[in-house]
Parts: sequence; structure tokens; C-alpha cells
Amino acid sequence: MRCEVCGREIMGSPNYRVIEGGKLTVCGQCAQFGTQEWDPTRPQARKTPTRRRSAQPRRRSDIDSAESLELVEGYGMLVKKARQKKGLSVEDFAKSIREKESVVKKLEKENMNPPMNLVKKVQNSLGVNILEEGAAKSGSVLSRPMGPRTLGDMIKIKDSTKKE
Ligand SMILES: [Zn+2]
Repeated sequence: MRCEVCGREIMGSPNYRVIEGGKLTVCGQCAQFGTQEWDPTRPQARKTPTRRRSAQPRRRSDIDSAESLELVEGYGMLVKKARQKKGLSVEDFAKSIREKESVVKKLEKENMNPPMNLVKKVQNSLGVNILEEGAAKSGSVLSRPMGPRTLGDMIKIKDSTKKE
């Protein structure tokens, strides 16, 4: 069976996707172009959206955006100042975000690599922003992982499989 979008042989089980209004049988790569699934075993379209979520493709873009965020320079001082502005002691602040005092101290001294959930809690609690896009900094995150295929890539694939 061949993919009706890129024309390649479908490896494994085919994906049934509604793409631009048409019911197509496509490969895993092209499945992402379809917003909806259609079920070949059911003759009539159902009104309820499909409940099967297990076969969803991984959501690369979400992961990317989380990874590319970095702590701003001097974030420890920013946290400390924001905390003091609110008149909170280290102890009070630690309690308010359900963390240990030692964690807050380390964070303010930048003696730790704070996990994202801690950073989020601190930001929400103090109303400060201590994250920035990593790409804006000294090129540390320049080599981004491969994104999904663009339409241009797909046309290239189509051409290269046209030999027969
Ligand atoms: Zn395909």
C-alpha cells in the first residue's frame, strides 16, 4: 500500500487522515498533515471526535520550547529582590511555595540548577520572570533538532521515488 500524499510505501500500519477535506490513507510522516482521522471500518462519519489518543505523534514543538528556555543572568538576585520587595523572609517564602528554606537559599545564590517546576512556582509567587529564550543567548542552543518535514522536503521525496 502506498501513501496517498508522498507516494512512498507505507511501513507498518497505514494512517487514515482527513487532509484538505479528502479521506486519505497516508504514511506516518504524512499523518501529521491531517487534522482528523477517519475510520475505514465505519462507513458513516461519526460526529464525536475519536477517543483513541495512543497513536498520536509525539509533540516535538512543545518539548522544543521547554528546552530552549534558560534562566536569565543574575536570576538569584532577581528572586531575592522580588522576595524582599514583598517583605517575605526566606522562611516565609519557602513555606509559601512549599519548598525547604535551603532550596530557596541555594536558588538565590544560584548554587543549584533549579527544576522547571520550582522556577515556575517562584515566578508565579513573586511575579518575576527569570526565564528567557535560550536562542537569544551566546549561541548555546543554535543547533536545534530537526523539525517536522516541510512541504518542500515532501516534494523532494516525491521526486526521488518517481523512478519506476
Ligand atoms: Zn507519506
